[in-house]
Amino acid sequence: MEYLLEVKDLQTSFFTEEGIVRAVDGVSFNVKPGEIVGVVGESGCGKSVVSQSIMRLVAYPPGKIVGGEILYRGQDLLKKSNKEMRKIRGNEIALIFQEPMTSFTPVYTIGNQIGEAIRLHQNVSKQEAQKRAAEMLKLVGIPRAEEILKEYPHRLSGGMRQRAMIAMALSCNPNLLIADEPTTALDVTIQAQILELMKDLQQKINTAIIFITHDLGVIAEMAQHVLVMYAGKVVEDAGIESLFDEPLHPYTAGLINSKPKLNEEREQLDFIPGAVPNPVEMPEGCAFNPRCPKAMDICREQMPAMIEAKPGHQVRCWLYCDERGGKA
Ligand code: SF4
Ligand code: MG
Repeated sequence: MEYLLEVKDLQTSFFTEEGIVRAVDGVSFNVKPGEIVGVVGESGCGKSVVSQSIMRLVAYPPGKIVGGEILYRGQDLLKKSNKEMRKIRGNEIALIFQEPMTSFTPVYTIGNQIGEAIRLHQNVSKQEAQKRAAEMLKLVGIPRAEEILKEYPHRLSGGMRQRAMIAMALSCNPNLLIADEPTTALDVTIQAQILELMKDLQQKINTAIIFITHDLGVIAEMAQHVLVMYAGKVVEDAGIESLFDEPLHPYTAGLINSKPKLNEEREQLDFIPGAVPNPVEMPEGCAFNPRCPKAMDICREQMPAMIEAKPGHQVRCWLYCDERGGKA
């Protein structure tokens, strides 16, 4: 199997006055070409830091990638020079995130900015770049594309800006798109349209997508493969069906149960009691133990290993592994 991306034992820490925050603490996963991988977890679990690490956009100080490998087509991105990285960003790997206002500069038109992004990576004339920018806007479902190119970002609605940011990200045909909560700020109808659009684009141009969200409903819509993160670690890694049919980690089960199910009357939502732990004072053992209904003595002492409990379905929990790190 040729993977497009292989993340191996990634460790990214923040050196703060309160102490060291291991925001990403030994994360490993793979992405196949054209695959949509979902990354889900509560805010502060480290999922955005994973995306910033892949793009090498972790700012030092206070953040630093302190260990691991990020192999893109077999080459370690952590060994690339800043110049090489600038070529890869946008050209090979693109990032879209929640607030498109921060990816557009307010003082230039949309056409100017998408055109520049195209010209940065492709040797084409200004007119040709504008033509391609208009094509991209049409591809993401923006009507009157030629007029929109002349507009400034603040003149567009939130949904339109999000589409324009996707158009800009896709304008260089990236092999990998990292989408970090791209629809969180949008209302439900527009969110559904953007998700539909991204799935459609993924099929049309076969871009692999890492889709980061706190919303399991969105994961169920989008992803073929899911990583569940908790306190800087992947705690479950499975195919979408296996994960929803039989979530193994008590945290995943809690997340799934806290979603209201369709066709089911519920008076009260189940929720996971407690909060994400303080990142500078992680609990001993499994970081989920203070909130876990199934916690045992060993959970408060030692971190469980990640094991393959079922074919293609990995979990990090003492319910499934023995003390030697084997299958229980
Ligand atoms: Fe719960 Fe223990 Fe599993 Fe952690 S290792 S999720 S505390 S049962
Ligand atoms: Mg985030």
